[in-house]
Amino acid sequence: MVVEIDVLNEWIPEQMGPGAMFVLENAGQVGEADDPYWAVLACPDCGTLGLITRRQIAGLIPVICGSDKCSAQFFLRDGQVLVRPPS
Ligand SMILES: [Zn+2]
Repeated sequence: MVVEIDVLNEWIPEQMGPGAMFVLENAGQVGEADDPYWAVLACPDCGTLGLITRRQIAGLIPVICGSDKCSAQFFLRDGQVLVRPPS
C-alpha cells in the first residue's frame, strides 16, 4: 500500500494509479447534503477507483475500498494514508 496521496490537477485515467486522487469539478454538489462526494480516489492498495466524501477527505471517517478482492480500510490525513488500526 502506498502511503502518500498523489493529487492530480487533471483527470488523466492513466495516471490514476494506487493513491492517486482527483477532486471532482462538482465537489460538494452531489451525494448527501451533509457529507457530499468530493473526489475520486484510487485505492492505495489495489488501485480500484472510488468516490470519497468530504468527511473522508477530512479524515473524520475511514475510507473503505469498494473492491470485493481488497479489504483496505484507512484514514486520510494531511495527504497521507493512515491504515486503520484493527478494532
Ligand atoms: Zn483496494
